[in-house]
Amino acid sequence: MIIVIKPNAPENDFNALKERLKAEGFRLNVSRGEETLVLGLIGDASKINEEQLKANPIVENVLRVSAPYKLANRAFHPQNTIIRVKDAVLGRLTPASAGAENGAGKSQLCVMAGPCSVESLEQIISVAKAVKKSGARALRGGAFKPRTSPYSFQGMGAKGLELLKAARKETGLPIVTELMSVREIDLFQDIDIIQIGARNMQNFDLLKEVGGMVKPVLLKRGLSSTIKELLMSVEYLMSAGAMEIIICERGVRTFDSYTRNCLDVSAIPYLQKETHLPVVVDPSHACGAAWMTPALSKAAVAAGADGLLIEVHNNPACALCDGEQSLTPEDFSALMDSLAVYAAAEGRRL
Ligand code: PEP
Ligand code: MN
Repeated sequence: MIIVIKPNAPENDFNALKERLKAEGFRLNVSRGEETLVLGLIGDASKINEEQLKANPIVENVLRVSAPYKLANRAFHPQNTIIRVKDAVLGRLTPASAGAENGAGKSQLCVMAGPCSVESLEQIISVAKAVKKSGARALRGGAFKPRTSPYSFQGMGAKGLELLKAARKETGLPIVTELMSVREIDLFQDIDIIQIGARNMQNFDLLKEVGGMVKPVLLKRGLSSTIKELLMSVEYLMSAGAMEIIICERGVRTFDSYTRNCLDVSAIPYLQKETHLPVVVDPSHACGAAWMTPALSKAAVAAGADGLLIEVHNNPACALCDGEQSLTPEDFSALMDSLAVYAAAEGRRL
């Protein structure tokens, strides 16, 4: 249930209402926007007397939210959540905040790029420098890799995280990397954005632990997960304390196999309608082919995505993982040039 509070309601009266509801056993979520103040109630609201609440002079409206995701729900938090990690900004600014943020008044289209896997210091530093030069705002790279075959390269593990940190030091780019198991959580305390991969989207124990770290999390949609399941996984992270969640559409399984997965473009506007959180697209894992990545990237931007996660490798033909879908640094640079036009059409800048 959400309670919309009247503008200019006295703070004392608002506090008194909150205390009363807390005493009744509700968990509260206050969302203060530029023009709105919304009090979200999490708990069994069936016993609440709606008429009595509406009679409170500071209450403008009371709405029941039937969707099972509450903290992720836009009704609980009408304004967009903006996530800032170093120079990366995720989320669409409102016109007022955009004006304050930069003269151009434009939201960032946050491009995060890098190899599927960290392979060596030279490789990660060279890719990091190249993608930064082309305008990427964050460096991606897997150290712990979820591979279909146990005989495939499993990632460099802890050493890979150290190499990512070295690339961060060298370029200033924040790093995005996948955490696969609760076992490794301590190694990830100094990671800027923790990626939860498609295969772990419903690993609820992992979600609870990662949520408790209260760090930015990039949560990928599961291979065959519905939007509702995805939002419930977001809710797991948020109910454990993490409020900065980046939702990533990375393609889902369908009956066809001409692409690796099928990019669900409609997930972008739908998620942005249902939640206040930034939505990014991973075109690389969606199509599985470097030549198709630019087209899907443009489609994602045109559909309103807040960012992109793109695989780039210094030598795709020799990549230890996902070479066929990795762009060369030159292809990435050309893609960034053409994306600038699409971003501008959407009122964004790279
Ligand atoms: C990845 O980003 O390298 C990855 C493994 O992605 P996904 O979890 O979407 O398959
Ligand atoms: Mn990959």
